[in-house]
Amino acid sequence: MGSHTGSDELDFDLEALKQKYAFERDRRIRTDADKQYVPSAEDFAGYYESDPWTERAERDPIVEQIDLIILGGGFAGLMAGARAREQGVEDFRIVDMGGDFGGTWYWNRYPGIHCDIESYCYLPLLDELGYVPKQKYSTGEEIFEHCQRIGKHFGLYEKALFQTEIDSLSWDEDSERWNVHTDRGDRIAARHVIVALGRYNRPKLPGIAGISKYQGATFHTARWDYDYTGGDMHGGMDKLADKRVAVIGTGATSIQVIPKLAEDAGHVVVFQRTPSVVAPRGNHETDPQWAKELKPGWARERRENYDSVVSYREPNDIIKDWWTELPSRVVPQLRPDMTLETVERIREIEDYRINNELRAHVDEVVHDPETAAKLKAWYRWNCKRPTFHDGYLETFNRDNVTLVDVSSSKGVERITEKGVVADGVEYPVDAIVFASGFEITSEMRRRYGIETFTGRDGESLYDHWQDGVKTLHGFATNNFPNLYFIGFYQGGVSANVTSMFDDQATHIAYLIGEAQRRGIKALEVSAEAQDAYGNWMAENAVDRSDFYAECTPGYYNNEGAKMVRGQSHIGEVYKGSINEFNDMLAQWRERGDLAGFTTSE
Ligand code: NDP
Repeated sequence: MGSHTGSDELDFDLEALKQKYAFERDRRIRTDADKQYVPSAEDFAGYYESDPWTERAERDPIVEQIDLIILGGGFAGLMAGARAREQGVEDFRIVDMGGDFGGTWYWNRYPGIHCDIESYCYLPLLDELGYVPKQKYSTGEEIFEHCQRIGKHFGLYEKALFQTEIDSLSWDEDSERWNVHTDRGDRIAARHVIVALGRYNRPKLPGIAGISKYQGATFHTARWDYDYTGGDMHGGMDKLADKRVAVIGTGATSIQVIPKLAEDAGHVVVFQRTPSVVAPRGNHETDPQWAKELKPGWARERRENYDSVVSYREPNDIIKDWWTELPSRVVPQLRPDMTLETVERIREIEDYRINNELRAHVDEVVHDPETAAKLKAWYRWNCKRPTFHDGYLETFNRDNVTLVDVSSSKGVERITEKGVVADGVEYPVDAIVFASGFEITSEMRRRYGIETFTGRDGESLYDHWQDGVKTLHGFATNNFPNLYFIGFYQGGVSANVTSMFDDQATHIAYLIGEAQRRGIKALEVSAEAQDAYGNWMAENAVDRSDFYAECTPGYYNNEGAKMVRGQSHIGEVYKGSINEFNDMLAQWRERGDLAGFTTSE
């Protein structure tokens, strides 16, 4: 990481850089914004919906009454199950479309897969399970195993209904339960429902002309076809030795995939529309002595430190990686009497400095100056998701790797029966890998995949939230009793999502536990409490719309289209750190009066 020289003397031309950023942004804006992507199910008739990892097992439909149903068995659902058990909730189910727990980490098994948030922060329940990750940044394999470890430890496997999708959820006024119907014919009447459906469940495909005409092998990174490539998550894709493989997309996934493909494939052609910011990774094995000396509570302390540092609250950075680098440079320069403008100016300067250093790093690593120029990112830190790797840039020094810049045509031009066309040149390939991301910001109904979702008086949740999400504390909404949400809705957030899921699951499990202990049949947020919270959030939410308006398009900024407050990819976000938000929730729980909820017994 670079040295920090303070913000008073500028050693670069900030205005010129700003203009360059604006130029690069403007030439990427597409008027079709997020309409440029095609819904995966429609064009590829179920291919991307199918499960390469588990054979479908038939089972009889279940008809039952239970206390709780959890939708989703990724980290959010696992945390919900674990925390519900701790609250004494025993009679519950977890439903997931996959064949095991893991969610994102179940589906994504592409070669080179790692998590780029520090494993000691990212893997939840480390203290409770007595597990210390093997490396500072875990492999996908280790993370998936940890999901299974949580499932086993908390007895969640016996609660699981895998390979099952929810068809409908409707509140029944008479029984004060949710009627849940699944595609397996299950009829479950659940008192409480936790929606723990993640953001990466639907692979996204670019709507490139001819995409369905291609005759070679093709798959999305979240459905890696090892039958075709050979090998596994570690590489060793021996079947690719004589193959030409195209990769479309250069985001966080691709950055991990491309070095592995380059090791094994005859030739790799990378189609890049916007370069990622790629900072050095610096992964290392966990020091056994350090692991031995960890004190109880260590993982929570680390997670809180991460969140305080990235929220510009804490100068003492114990994580020390590129996520914490920008705040670690900024915070020591802050003084209590500074105006917001001055703080923003310091942040901007340090942001430009970091990116200057990373662009210089590209020149140091990549031998061919033309290729190096194409790999440099021209936008601010966090305009698009930063990425981290120790071998990605080096990969472009290999003879069997070609980088094709498709920025001028705002994406790949066309796909033919034989390959990919860019700037009028056809690149024939044996396989196309789509590293094109997920439907993170598409319509809620599509992402949930639940056609009918109705609360009191048959009101649809999708209509209820048509003008934006309305909740109390981000977890529950009026007219939908006994229904709770985990994820990005309206409250404190963390980029370390598993930690945020844990905090949310803890709060929701408390609500359900209290309902059970007090014999409450229906626990519902009052309209007044919801409005009051909405007004409070309007005063206390971050508004980064000006920042994102100047950013290169991507899912962070609605592909450059106008942003509506509260409808960003991370919902409406509380301006303080998630630690502060959690403190507020803990105080609310301590008061024990379930303030803001109405109850029926
Ligand atoms: P992204 O959405 O980040 O990237 C999609 C890529 O496809 C972009 O490079 C995009 O270009 C490109 N693309 C889209 N359409 C076209 C087109 N028509 N022609 C050419 N290129 C095109 O998806 P990822 O799967 O990489 O990452 C998704 C998210 O998953 C990340 O942002 C991150 O949050 C998470 N992730 C986390 C990891 C971790 O370690 N924790 C690892 C991997 C993913 P453009 O940028 O120009 O739109």
